Amino acid sequence: MTQTLNFVATAPPAGTRRDVVTAVRRGFFGRCPQCGEWRMFRAYLKVVDTCSVCGEDLSPQRADDAPAYVTMLIVGHFIVAGILACDELWPNLPLLPLALGWSILAGLSSLLLLPRVKGALVGYQWAMRMHGFGGPEEEFT
Ligand SMILES: [Zn+2]
Repeated sequence: MTQTLNFVATAPPAGTRRDVVTAVRRGFFGRCPQCGEWRMFRAYLKVVDTCSVCGEDLSPQRADDAPAYVTMLIVGHFIVAGILACDELWPNLPLLPLALGWSILAGLSSLLLLPRVKGALVGYQWAMRMHGFGGPEEEFT
């Protein structure tokens, strides 16, 4: 019990902390969160197992449904705000072309944003040492 409490209360040494902002930014642009030199994705949403430049193991990432949720959250806010503003400014626009236009815009912006959000979340997981990214169990053994 005491050993577990000490384990949780001890932070990693300052030299081993990872910069969250840098890792999230690199991930957002599809780069390795550690070196920023190589691609994080081998396909649209498939994360490479290891970085070919620095050798960082990216296989522990567990983004799951979070990228889709965050993408829908962001796109939904902009699309709903745009629809409401459009309706306020031009109340007599025909409904069908408007619905098609906003639907296409929502789909395209979701497809564009989804890999960026996933990369940012993987970068965040890496920086916070979540899911086997050099977490406490690896540091204190
Ligand atoms: Zn790398």
